[in-house]
Amino acid sequence: MREKMVAGNWKMHGSLVDNKQLLDEVAAGVDGLKEARLAVCVPYPYLSSVQDALRSTNIAWGAQNVSQYEKGAYTGEVSTSMLKDFECRYVIVGHSERRTLFGENNTIVAEKYLAAQRAGITPILCVGETLEQREAGTTERVIEDQLTAVIRLAGIDSLSQAVVAYEPIWAIGTGKTASPQQAQDVHSFIRTGIANENASIARELAILYGGSVKANNAPELFAMPDIDGGLIGGASLIASEFIAICRALH
Ligand code: PEP
Repeated sequence: MREKMVAGNWKMHGSLVDNKQLLDEVAAGVDGLKEARLAVCVPYPYLSSVQDALRSTNIAWGAQNVSQYEKGAYTGEVSTSMLKDFECRYVIVGHSERRTLFGENNTIVAEKYLAAQRAGITPILCVGETLEQREAGTTERVIEDQLTAVIRLAGIDSLSQAVVAYEPIWAIGTGKTASPQQAQDVHSFIRTGIANENASIARELAILYGGSVKANNAPELFAMPDIDGGLIGGASLIASEFIAICRALH
């Protein structure tokens, strides 16, 4: 059975004081939930303090982006080996905000995915369509292109060491959630496409849904057969919401 997962994406939010309070509350609230992977992906400057806060909990931590380069004259970038120094287990790659606001195309995202895996960090690969693409009926093609770029560079087998997050861009931070059936349809499309190349990898791959997941809609979404949990933005900053979403996996 594939493992379920809930990962928080704090985006560019937090402070040392607020993070401590949030993590103390979340860690207490999810204590004892063992059958699922739980993680928070935090801004780089907080990795050390988050590592200290979570070391003896059942919550893993990671980053929201990483350089595709190993080292060198890349001012402002952070490498995979730097993330390893802080024992990051996960890194988000290809989040739509990186793609749309910072010009990351499918090639760059694939390079980041491969760099993470080479360092032993599990990439959480985000894919998803814009509203215009959905309305034009090109959702599947867009997602196929996003996945194909990664599979071409890293190989189909690489998906055994990855998590995929389907995040329709029109649902991120907008309060509009894909209906459970809309999300399930895309998750099933992703899993079937991968199964055509390798059935056992497709069966074991965790595919998360992201886009305005809250405590009140998580149970319905997570009940769908191909939705293996969630990537949670805004609601991961509210302890009671995030705890309830983690609990909805069980
Ligand atoms: C995200 O940032 O990945 C996300 C899904 O955000 P939100 O839950 O706020 O829509």
